[in-house]
Amino acid sequence: MKKYTLNPKEALILDNQIEKQLSSYRSRKNKKHKCMYKGCNKSAVNSHTISKKISLTSISENGHLKQFKSKRDYQKQNGKSLSNDTVGLNDATTFKGFCQNHEDLFKNLDNNTTRSSLEEILLQSYRSVCFSLFNTKSTDIYFGNNNIIDNSLTVNKLKELLELDKEQIEISDNKLMELYNEINKNQFHGFDIESKLLESYKSSLEDYINSYNFNAFEIGDEYNFCEENCQIGVLYKKLNNQIPVALLNHHLLKIGEQYTLLLITVIPYVDSTEIYWIFDKNFYKHLSKRWNTITDKLINILNMLESSMMLCENWYVKPAIINDMPKERLEIIEEDIYFINERDLFADYDLSIFDNLRLIFIENEINIDSVSEMNKINKIVQRKDYNYRLNEFNNQISDIFPLKN
Ligand SMILES: [Zn+2]
Repeated sequence: MKKYTLNPKEALILDNQIEKQLSSYRSRKNKKHKCMYKGCNKSAVNSHTISKKISLTSISENGHLKQFKSKRDYQKQNGKSLSNDTVGLNDATTFKGFCQNHEDLFKNLDNNTTRSSLEEILLQSYRSVCFSLFNTKSTDIYFGNNNIIDNSLTVNKLKELLELDKEQIEISDNKLMELYNEINKNQFHGFDIESKLLESYKSSLEDYINSYNFNAFEIGDEYNFCEENCQIGVLYKKLNNQIPVALLNHHLLKIGEQYTLLLITVIPYVDSTEIYWIFDKNFYKHLSKRWNTITDKLINILNMLESSMMLCENWYVKPAIINDMPKERLEIIEEDIYFINERDLFADYDLSIFDNLRLIFIENEINIDSVSEMNKINKIVQRKDYNYRLNEFNNQISDIFPLKN
């Protein structure tokens, strides 16, 4: 892969402009969004994907949660660093999802911690899919569908979109297009694959929820959904412990020769936690096997969630989890989280995020490797030099976001 040919400062300015556009698109103040529900044309309000009242509040401190945020950083060669940030309850998990009428669909989810029908499980899955779609689709909408790859976007149009002016950046047209192509190929094409998959998950769930007559029945602690008439499979489990993270991640997986998307949703309550896996039913056999191994032990569930957190940043955690973490470990995590090329969703991360739960879980379980679990808390780890890692990242990123032929 070619390296950026702009100097770091120029690259950073351009990158900042792109980020600025994206965040104003996603902003809670943007009134242009329509309801995502099929056929509805009303304006979207700010929707929580995870209930503020019965879930987010249960892990908040003084109305706040913590998340990791990408920050501009001139010191870093890539111009970015990830660090932890405080976020208010009104912003956590919020997106411009649905109109006020369609928000009512989720009323039960926002009032009860117990699922009383399959419909509720599917509605939460639907809401999670829409959240991910909203966040991946914004690049698509803003910059047009693969305009760059098709070379139909002109330099002038690009400058206009990015609100670049001459005083801000001295950049030749060729350089600008070259840089933008790099960013687009890496990041936006990845988003493009993801948003197409999410689009199909969304419409499949919508069709099923609309056509099926659901009966109310108490969903137990586990539920596996895999039906002939729905393209989506859902695996659901409720734990009797609180894992203090609200998580709405999605992961692009390569299974065999095919790319597919696994969504992981975690909803914490005062004394319990719901976990959802939402995916293409074609991969049910493969993923349910993994799910069974993981959900067999609480420590394995914790490990899976920590791995997910280190690969995708759509999560909000109880502030104490970050605030009480040893400083040295937090620094390593803040650097590691950028290098997604180094880890695998189904392999354990070698540092602990939830120390207290880890200690409780390993004490209560037999047949686990408690030495390696304790090492995640106590052992001093060594990482390779930052620039070496960045170089590896740049070389490998196209494997994570496969390019078009
Ligand atoms: Zn609507």
